[in-house]
Amino acid sequence: MEEKKKKIRKPLGFARLIPKKCIACGARCEVECKPLAIIMNDIGEPIIDLEKCTGCQRCLKVCPVDALEMFFTPEQLKQLEEWELARKEAAAAAPGAAEGRTVEVETKAAAKFKEYSGVWVYVEQTDGKPAIVSWELLGAGANLSKTLGVELCAVIIGHGVEDLCQEAFAYGATKTYLIDAPVFRHYRTEPYYKAICHLVRKFKPEIILVGATGLGRDLAGAVATDLATGLTADCTGLDIDDRGFLLQTRPAFGGNIMATILTERTRPQMSTVRPHVMTLPAKDSSRTGMVIRESPAIEEEDIAVKMLELIDDSKHGQDVDVAAAEVIVSGGRGMMSKENFKILQALADELGGVVGSSRSAVEAGWMPQDRQVGQTGKTVRPKIYIACGISGAIQHLVGMQSSDVIIAINRDKQAPIFEVAHYGIVGDLFKIVPAVTERIKELRTKNEQK
Ligand SMILES: Cc1cc2nc3c(=O)[nH]c(=O)nc-3n(C[C@H](O)[C@H](O)[C@H](O)COP(=O)(O)OP(=O)(O)OC[C@H]3O[C@@H](n4cnc5c(N)ncnc54)[C@H](O)[C@@H]3O)c2cc1C
Repeated sequence: MEEKKKKIRKPLGFARLIPKKCIACGARCEVECKPLAIIMNDIGEPIIDLEKCTGCQRCLKVCPVDALEMFFTPEQLKQLEEWELARKEAAAAAPGAAEGRTVEVETKAAAKFKEYSGVWVYVEQTDGKPAIVSWELLGAGANLSKTLGVELCAVIIGHGVEDLCQEAFAYGATKTYLIDAPVFRHYRTEPYYKAICHLVRKFKPEIILVGATGLGRDLAGAVATDLATGLTADCTGLDIDDRGFLLQTRPAFGGNIMATILTERTRPQMSTVRPHVMTLPAKDSSRTGMVIRESPAIEEEDIAVKMLELIDDSKHGQDVDVAAAEVIVSGGRGMMSKENFKILQALADELGGVVGSSRSAVEAGWMPQDRQVGQTGKTVRPKIYIACGISGAIQHLVGMQSSDVIIAINRDKQAPIFEVAHYGIVGDLFKIVPAVTERIKELRTKNEQK
């Protein structure tokens, strides 16, 4: 009888710190270490207990400065050689056998994915008024559906919202899935996520895009959880790879890197995208499409949350909508005080725009949070963005770099803001901003006299 060969396991090694590279980022590695093999020392550097380390490499993946590496003990190195040899022998005996499990998993997944087709965009509406981000997503979805050669569909849920189907066609959808019933009159998580899950299970889309608004974030999370699929929040780029998978790019590690995320094993692939990140496509009201009406069995008495009163706070404390402005004059730490923002307001008034700010200015108490532009503030896409006394940290840039024209005023000619600016003025903003405002006033007066 043939002797059964002992299975050699691949050794995984241990993690260790590369001296002097750690920046004491705040114990990301310790937090990520599931077997609790890492504790931080007094200066915030990791101490790794090799008895507990399983070689999972999670700590390496979260380290923002690559300050951790894997190493093998001499015994493990020997075991690694044996494993490599055994793998080669197995591969020679039966091509594909060495990777047998992976091949099998991938084939199964590919077959399962074949059932899923089409790009869907969820059309967010409140009282029948659509959120513009939905139309922006139809623009992004059109590129994806074209690359994949599949349909671009809109999902519309509400009560008395049928006219939105035509608007969705005008922005590029070729089909809409409409669920229109009194129970969907106001947004509530439960009926809405159940309605979408009903559609997904029946029609099987491969991609679903949702606006990263308050409502969209709530809904997308609930849908992804119920479908047990992947969801990437706040994407700034969407593309298709050569296998037809969705490439979802978003800032990671506090905006210091851009990560591209894939949903490799489940469908649909779900992403949320903030307003103004994608370009609004041209509207063509002559376009038409197919409306699929669905009536999932969702009854009012089955829903735990009841709508007692609707309080409109859209105007409360937020008379300026930075995200929707066509001209933004933004100030940063270089403004030096709250009082000094008056010169930016004067320039914004001349240009018919609004005043925005960097996070530093918000943290200093010079501007309210709703004016903050950037990763943890608003994403803006105005026709003109004037950055005054803003250095151009990546977290600020991700919120404004898609503006049509960027003008930077900064006394430091090395400031990173100049890398994204179309026009740059190196100098003291306290001299430049009032001079520009005066010049615009002069030109306006001249024009009016003509
Ligand atoms: C997780 C995370 C999220 C963040 N989110 C955001 C975000 O959403 N938005 C955001 O803005 N930041 C955000 N930040 C903060 C960001 O990293 C920067 O700290 C911030 O943007 C810096 O703001 P600032 O450019 O105003 O200040 P600074 O970087 O201090 O720059 C001030 C600039 O003013 C110039 N200056 C000074 N005086 C004058 C003068 N008289 N004339 C001309 N120029 C002058 C200086 O040369 C300098 O370039 C985030 C950070 C983290 C970690």
